[in-house]
Parts: sequence; structure tokens; C-alpha cells
Amino acid sequence: MKTHVKALVVGGGAVGAGIAYHLAKYGWKDVMLLERDELTSGSTWHAAGLLPLFNMGYATTHLHDYSVDFYKSLEAETGLNAGFSVVGNLRMAQTKDRMDEYMLYGSTAETVGIEYHHMTPAQIKERWPLINTSDLEGAIYHPGDGYINPADVTMAMAKGARQRGVTIERKWQVDGYEWTGSEWKVTCTKMVEKGGNLVPSEEQTVITAEHVVTATGNHAQRTAQMLGIKIPAIPVEHQFIVTDADPALVKWRADGNPEHPVIRDADAQSYVREERGGWILGVYEKNAPARFEYGVPDSFRADLFPLDLERIEEQYMAMIHRMPSCEESGLKDDFNGPICYTPDGNPLVGPAPGLRNMWLAEGFSFGITAAGGVGNYLAQMMVEGEAEIDMASLDPKRYGSWMTTEYGARKNEECYDHVYILHHPDEERPACAGLRTSPAYDRQKAAGAQFGRVNGWDRPNYFGPKDADENFDHDGRSFRRGTWWPYAVEEAKAIREGVGLVDATAFTKHVVKGPGATQFLDWFTCNKLPKIGRINLTYALTSHGTTRTEYTIVRNGENEYYLVSAGAWTAYDADYLRKAAEDKMEEFGYIEIQDVTTQWGVFAIAGPKSREVLNKIIKDADPETALSNKRFPWLSAKQIELGMCPVNAIRVAYTGELGWELHHPIEMQNYLYDLLMEAGADVGMKLVGGRAQNWLRQEKSYRAFGTELGRDATPQEADLPRFIDLEKDFHGKEAMLKTGVRSKCVTLLIDGPDDADPWGREALYDGDTKVGRLTSGGYSVAFGKSIGMGYVTPELANVGQKLKVKMFAQLWDAEIVEDSPYDPTNATIRVNG
Ligand SMILES: Cc1cc2nc3c(=O)[nH]c(=O)nc-3n(C[C@H](O)[C@H](O)[C@H](O)COP(=O)(O)OP(=O)(O)OC[C@H]3O[C@@H](n4cnc5c(N)ncnc54)[C@H](O)[C@@H]3O)c2cc1C
Repeated sequence: MKTHVKALVVGGGAVGAGIAYHLAKYGWKDVMLLERDELTSGSTWHAAGLLPLFNMGYATTHLHDYSVDFYKSLEAETGLNAGFSVVGNLRMAQTKDRMDEYMLYGSTAETVGIEYHHMTPAQIKERWPLINTSDLEGAIYHPGDGYINPADVTMAMAKGARQRGVTIERKWQVDGYEWTGSEWKVTCTKMVEKGGNLVPSEEQTVITAEHVVTATGNHAQRTAQMLGIKIPAIPVEHQFIVTDADPALVKWRADGNPEHPVIRDADAQSYVREERGGWILGVYEKNAPARFEYGVPDSFRADLFPLDLERIEEQYMAMIHRMPSCEESGLKDDFNGPICYTPDGNPLVGPAPGLRNMWLAEGFSFGITAAGGVGNYLAQMMVEGEAEIDMASLDPKRYGSWMTTEYGARKNEECYDHVYILHHPDEERPACAGLRTSPAYDRQKAAGAQFGRVNGWDRPNYFGPKDADENFDHDGRSFRRGTWWPYAVEEAKAIREGVGLVDATAFTKHVVKGPGATQFLDWFTCNKLPKIGRINLTYALTSHGTTRTEYTIVRNGENEYYLVSAGAWTAYDADYLRKAAEDKMEEFGYIEIQDVTTQWGVFAIAGPKSREVLNKIIKDADPETALSNKRFPWLSAKQIELGMCPVNAIRVAYTGELGWELHHPIEMQNYLYDLLMEAGADVGMKLVGGRAQNWLRQEKSYRAFGTELGRDATPQEADLPRFIDLEKDFHGKEAMLKTGVRSKCVTLLIDGPDDADPWGREALYDGDTKVGRLTSGGYSVAFGKSIGMGYVTPELANVGQKLKVKMFAQLWDAEIVEDSPYDPTNATIRVNG
């Protein structure tokens, strides 16, 4: 057996095979895959093999789309038939809301180029008479997907990998990892059969690998322990049953009719497909328990759990309702296996936190569908430095070290039973709510806050009625304007016309200091560094010149900086920053990095009356002038005292109005909150949530990280020339310049439907031609119509350009407007007082 390789892939399920194949395809010569048992012996062998293209996320839609095309090509390359039945996929809707969901999805699918059609109940009935359509509103139909044999496709990928030079070793278990500083020493144990169990033998070997990828499926917790990191991939039980032959179906096929598509009855939490004259019914039922929270027992190999028929009775009855002909068909077979989940349902793909050359590919609940795509895009990241799509939504570091086993297990159970809920874009999930809260949480709750969750934090989305019942938010969600909408309108107006207060405590905050700090940050970020006491908006780039992180940098001293970035991305930002600083320390000198996120609370006060409110409580020899332009200019930072609270105030407002961010010791937050609320009472200061803030920043064309800003666009493409200092050298500069401008970020005002705004997932058209997509959307109180930001081909990125936005299967007028359509000269932000 080889003992030195370029890359070692651990795990021989669909995902490991897909990765090994693509590493070789992208040119790595020396790749090895290790499997502790047999290929496919994990979850892969018992998967139902459905390949649903439908996915509400942009990156996962790309992954699935790639897989479906790739699987179709495998037979020609390997001679192995992957068992792909391209029967199509029919996703039915029992409600108008569900049809709205499909229409929103349809627009996303168009941005990726996936074929779909909407169907009426009559069209469904005409084509597939066995389906009961009496209670349907319609459906969305994908002709290009279907189902595949999971073992066959894995074997085909494994054969393709071998043909490209990959070595595959079975019955070798990885038992330890050690980083030498330049490569991984991986301890492996030969596994042997003993009394039907698979047990470690005495035989061990150590393989050195420059890179390791873990694709260990249900064993992710053991992998996490060996690596000393947290991986919130914990399996949940998942069941499907197979019926005996259905005589009506047998006759239908005998009459020469084609196979039925995969039939998804989303409102009945189930899918059905043909299986040898009978049906497979797969369900996403309530109360499926998490399994193997602390690891897979040695006795569990390619095993299953006992069927729990009671748990899926409702879905069984729903299948009989939908396919009445199957009522008499008995139960032939059943599967109840572990299916890996993560708290948000997306897999964990990318660099492992804190480790070098260690890549995770864990937590796949649609691993058969994703395997080809994840292989492709992860291999791009490893071999070429970046993937062509933004993989941030799949990055393992979207969860921080606050994550626990209990959190993972409970969220994963929730995620499983939410697979078929209506995926409203304003959806918030209740499990583990109230886990990470700012001290003022209870006060805000009492004031009507409806919280949303990001990176474990609860943050106010908006402030509803104080006496709202606990289902107020849930029951008012919509693909159009939810019940929250008028509250957000009032909050947005408060900031434009009066004053509002936003709790921004979840912001990620890092202190970077030490003799090497200035040179390091100058290289790490693309804008000029601010002078002492000033701030700058800047970007850290990837090696491909695209945006890795957006920072507000405050310079507190010659060699001391305070960096503020998005609250959702603390571990993601910390990891990149730390690793870059470690790499550059020798060149630039010692650099200290502290994550101070949970030490500092943040309130953002904004609006024309914000100065008036602060003037009342600021302690200063001359309080009337302390916040004037002369003493506290726009884009500067100062230590001030508000009552007895020391505050690092930054004169900047993400809402684009006169305002300050008030960074304060977290233990004083309630004191400061009460002080501000009292001072703001007589000018009608309003508490404001994230939804209104998101609208307001679009009126100012402020790009947001995770939407306009990400690893698929450079800051030049994001059209941010004023934040790029081309006079200096910085990380990613050459690549950014070489990339040029493939598409350009623009702001649009939209004449949409009366009851809806775009969500930022919609396709943009010029006539009949698709020319881009929205990345953000919402409502503008300043213009009284919908607003959006997005990317279009550069030649169309001109003020006044008329385009169309696809919403609810129709095209609506939109016009590209100047950057910062509200207050383009920043007069209100700079106003003196
Ligand atoms: C009932 C059921 C139906 C499903 N239906 C579908 C479906 O229709 N479509 C779909 O896309 N998905 C489906 N899934 C999900 C799908 O099975 C998984 O997402 C997929 O198999 C995950 O593949 P994987 O390679 O990540 O994990 P696995 O297949 O579990 O592979 C991981 C491998 O790693 C090996 N391993 C672990 N630790 C080590 C170690 N230390 N050293 C060496 N080897 C190690 C294991 O032995 C295992 O073979 C279903 C799941 C279930 C339970």
C-alpha cells in the first residue's frame, strides 16, 4: 500500500467517490481513497436514489445540477451503467402558497439554467391518470431528473477515479491524524471480519498526505473527535417502504405507457416512485430521532433500524389518497436508515476550521444527488484555490465553537421534519431559539421583537405587536408580503424621518494588533488603511481576487485595529484572518488576533434625530458640540461616555442616515439600552429590526456580504472602485485585475406585483434574454416601490437601462438606477448639528 499521497480521501460512499474522481480529473496524480469497510457500505447503499433538482439554495442547486449532467456521462466514460432513470420529477402543490413557493424556486432555477414547467391538475390527470388530482392546485415538473441506483453510480465514479489513477483501498480505517506542519500523518488500521462484525486488526500503517478530505458520513462525530473540531453532522432516522405490485400500475406499464416520474407530494411530506410494478414511499415525518450523537457503534455496519410504521401512518394514508390504486398492495420491504443532517440542511463542504489542508465533506442528506457536484466544486477549491461558484453557504465554519452535540442533534431533527414545509424566505425555525442572545433580549421581546436566528444568535427581525401570540410570525409568513411587512415599513420610515435603534450585537469583531498588524492588514485588504481615529470600508480577497470578507476597519492606534464584519460569519472570518496572519507573521512581524465578538454589544442609532437623542445623554465638557461634524466627523471613531457607559462610537450607519454604531461593554448593555430608550422616548425613537435595515441599505446600494459580496465576484464586479486602492499591492489584486468584469452589480427599482417584493433570488431579463439575477430584494419606503440589487452583464449595467424581473412566473418592469438612489450625495449622513 502507498504511504505517501498528494490527497487522501477518507470514506468510500457516494461523496468520497465523487471527490476522488474529480481530484484526479482536475489533475492531481496521487490520490488515494480509504474505506473502513466496503464501498457504499455507509448510508449510500440504502438510499432511494432520487436526484431532486429542486432546491431553494443557489449553491446546492448548482451542485445538484452538475451531478445530474455528470451522472448521465458516466457510462460512456466507464462502461458502467449508473442505473439513471430519467423519468422526471413532479412536485405537486395542494395550496396556492405551495405554488408560490414553486414559482419562486422556478425563478432561481432559471438563474442556474435548469429546465422546469408548471402543470395544472388537468394536465397532470391527462398525462398520469392514476394520480388523484382532486385536491391539487398544480405542480412543478422537472423533465431532466429522476432516480439512480446509488451503489451503481458510486461504483461508476470509483471506476472512473481508478481509470484516472486514483488508488482505492478497502478495509482500512483511519484512526488518527497528526499535522506535521507541512503534511498530515494519518494512522490507519486494517479492519477484519470477526463474527459478523468489522473489527480493527493489529496491522497498522501511517500514510502521509499533503491534503486530507473526510467524507465519513455517519461517522462524522468520530472524525470530529480525532481532529479536535466540531462538525454538526449527526444522522437522523429516515424511512421508506416498498409495496407489492399495484395491478393498475402493472397494467398501465403493460399498455406501453412510460414510467411515472418521481411524484412528490410535498404537502403530505412524502415522495413516491415506481419500483418493479409497485411503489416506493419515502417520508419526512415528524419525530424521527437523531442517532449516533456520540459515534456509530462498532456493531452497526450496513445495518438498518426497525421500521416504525406508526410514525409514518399519516403519510401512508396520504399515498393511498394520492394513488388510490395502491390501496390493496401489501408491504414488500422497508428501510429505516441513518441519514446525515446538519442544523440548516446544507452539507459541510470546505476547509476545516483551524486546520491546514484538511477538507470536510460531511453532513449530506441528499448525498447521492450532491456527490458529483460536491466532487467537482470541492476539487476546484483544492486544486485551483477556489470554486467557480460561491461555496460559502456550505462552508463548515458557518457554525462556531459555540455549537454543541445537543444543539446539532435537536436542530438536525428539526431540519429533517422541515424538509417539506413551505420554505418561505421569511422562515425562522424554532428549535434552539434563545440560545445566543444579547443581554437586551428580554427587553426587546417585551417590546414586541420577533427574532430571527443567524449563527445561533437571536436577532430582532422586526417589532410586532407587544401582545402577539406565539404563532404570530409563523402564521403570517408568505412568499409575498408577510404580516411583518407593515411593521418593517414603519421601522424603515422611523429611520428615514425620525430615529431608530437597531441591536447589532451579533456583528463579528476582531482586534488585530502588534508590530506586524499594519503591514499585514495593508496586504490583507484592498482599501487604504484608515488614519488613527478614522474608519474605512474594505475587503479581504480570495487568491482568485473575489470577495472573501467585508470589513469595517477602525484604526485605534498606530498598530491596533478593530475589525467589524458580518454576524453570520464569525468562525468563517476568524479562520481566514488567523491563517493569513500566521502565514505572514515572519514577513511582517508579530500579529495578535483576538475574537472579541461576545465582549462588545452594539447598538446602531440612526435617523435625522439620532444626534438629538445622543446629545441628551452624552457626558462631555461641551455636550452640545461633542457629536458635531467638527468634533466627530463622518467615518471617524471616538470613545465617548453615554451616562455611565463607556462607548466606542463609530460614525457610520448601515441604513445610510445620520447615525452612530455604539460599541459597548456587553455587561453594560441593559443600562445603555434603558438610557437610550428613555432619551429617545419623546422624539418617538423606534426599535428597528433586520428586515427594515435590509431594505434601507438597498436604497443606499450598500452591498451585503453573502448576497452581493461573495466568492463568485470580485470587488470590481461588485462595482466598488472607491474601496479599492489600485496604487498598492494587496492579496488577490492580480487575480482580480485578470478576471476583469464578467458581470456587474447594480441597483434596480421595480414595478412588481401589488402584494409582493422580490427576495433576491429572481432572474433578470432583457426582453426574452436572461441577463442576470437579483441577489437582494425588498421594499423601498423612499421610493414607494420594490427595490433590488443584483448582477447583470456589464454592457447592460447602465443607469436608465430597462429590464424585467421574473416574479410569480411573470415578468415585471425594472430599471437600473444610480448607485445609492436615496441621498446619492450622502447629505443626510454628513449633516452637521
Ligand atoms: C433511507 C434513506 C433514503 C435516502 N434516499 C436518498 C435519495 O433518494 N437521494 C439522495 O440524494 N440521498 C438519499 N439518502 C441520503 C444518502 O444516503 C446520503 O446522503 C449519502 O449516502 C451520503 O453519502 P456519504 O458518502 O456522505 O456517506 P456514506 O455513504 O455513509 O459513506 C461514508 C463512508 O465513510 C466510511 N468511513 C467512515 N469513517 C471512516 C474512517 N475513519 N476510515 C475509513 N472509512 C471511514 C464509512 O464506512 C462509509 O462507507 C437517503 C438516506 C437514507 C437513510
